Amino acid sequence: MSAPQLLSWGQYPPFPQTPHPCHWREMLPETLDALVRAHGSTLPFGNGRSYGDSCLAASDRVMHLRHLDRFIQANWTTGILTAEAGVTLQEILALAIPHGWFLSVTPGTQLITLGGAIANDVHGKNHHVRGTFGRHVRRFGLLRSQEGRLVCSPQDNAELFAATIGGLGLTGLIEWAEIQLLPIRSSQIDGQVERFETLAEFFTLSDELDRRHEYGVAWIDCAASGRTTGRGVYMAGDFATEGALEVADPARLGIPLTPPISLINGLSLRAFNAVYWRKHPRTRQAQRLGYAPFFYPLDGIHQWNRLYGPKGFQQYQCLIPHGEAEPAIHALLSAIAASGTGSFLAVLKRCGTIASPGLLSFPAPGTTLALDFPQSERLDTYLFPRLDAIVREAGGRLYPAKDAHMRGEDFRHGYPAWERLEALRDPALNSRFWTRVTT
Ligand SMILES: Cc1cc2nc3c(=O)[nH]c(=O)nc-3n(C[C@H](O)[C@H](O)[C@H](O)COP(=O)(O)OP(=O)(O)OC[C@H]3O[C@@H](n4cnc5c(N)ncnc54)[C@H](O)[C@@H]3O)c2cc1C
Repeated sequence: MSAPQLLSWGQYPPFPQTPHPCHWREMLPETLDALVRAHGSTLPFGNGRSYGDSCLAASDRVMHLRHLDRFIQANWTTGILTAEAGVTLQEILALAIPHGWFLSVTPGTQLITLGGAIANDVHGKNHHVRGTFGRHVRRFGLLRSQEGRLVCSPQDNAELFAATIGGLGLTGLIEWAEIQLLPIRSSQIDGQVERFETLAEFFTLSDELDRRHEYGVAWIDCAASGRTTGRGVYMAGDFATEGALEVADPARLGIPLTPPISLINGLSLRAFNAVYWRKHPRTRQAQRLGYAPFFYPLDGIHQWNRLYGPKGFQQYQCLIPHGEAEPAIHALLSAIAASGTGSFLAVLKRCGTIASPGLLSFPAPGTTLALDFPQSERLDTYLFPRLDAIVREAGGRLYPAKDAHMRGEDFRHGYPAWERLEALRDPALNSRFWTRVTT
């Protein structure tokens, strides 16, 4: 029986991918070669947690590398771990936490692969302290269609090392990677939570709390308008200094079927956002919680992406440079509130100044706003062109891992190193995203 076809997490754009499952590193050269001969090109696919078309092959034939899921080596004195690229962050945590180690950087889901984390150089709530995931990658094995197997590190094949971190799966197949973990004494988080009334207050809180805490992020009520534009809830925290080293249970709840229409609409959005904001304290409160609800609240519900119905959804994630951030984000939120659409979980986070090692990494000093929208034609014809104009004017850029609409011109302007990546791209690999934004 052939494996079911794959889509990206937003289930949009609707280009089903035929997966070619790869279980052993030994079979990669042969599979790559066969796919290129039959279809011209292919693309590595991790766990499909990218939202738009950056994980979709130009040929709609992907090499499914999630099955390369073996650990190779771990040193619990130094926290250096080597694993195949299909191992998920969840699997790494299940192994490492009992030994007192955590991921140095983690995104808002643990259901991604090591290869996917490197290829998008993902960032998390501690960007202001530790930069991106790629900063904690010591070396990796890369398979290229013409050169064969290479080991890349800041010292060896350094150009390919930089191009592959945030390289969107285009420079070769990452077969394995060696990463540095973060020491912890407890898997619990000592957090602080506080709601704020305006966007200006977000920036004041971020100034204060990011200096004192490893982790910081805000949820924004994207339906609020007028004087309340940008109100939200700030969450900061650190790993507790004492307590158990416990691995969280996997999610038990799930959305079993895709409903015939999106359950996310203007009415449910406004109601949820207002209630969620009110339920948080006006003044700062301490809370202790497990790492899973702190870092991965959405992983608690399997396949939550189905809530958006058969048309799927798009995420909009932009980064606005520091000087322009407050007015530009105010303008973005006003445009979103006026459009009557948006998401339950709009996220605002300040990125720090630690440089990313990748040629095309998304994070840079500035503030990033991310939110989901149920797919509709009006997004592409009305709302996104307005948002894009604000981002462009502010000198910002969009995140390829989340994107399904960005104009090629905006991509090339936002990522001027794209031509260096194109020069280093493996000709056997190409994505729908890359074709869309570079031609
Ligand atoms: C709920 C949720 C929260 C998220 N939060 C964040 C966040 O906070 N920060 C953030 O940065 N991102 C975030 N993301 C995005 C997600 O972390 C990235 O899209 C990630 O790259 C997905 O990894 P994946 O393993 O699912 O790979 P896929 O989505 O399948 O692929 C991603 C890219 O990696 C390439 N790739 C995969 N495996 C390999 C390999 N072995 N060799 C070479 N290339 C490979 C693919 O070609 C593709 O270009 C979030 C996503 C979700 C669903």
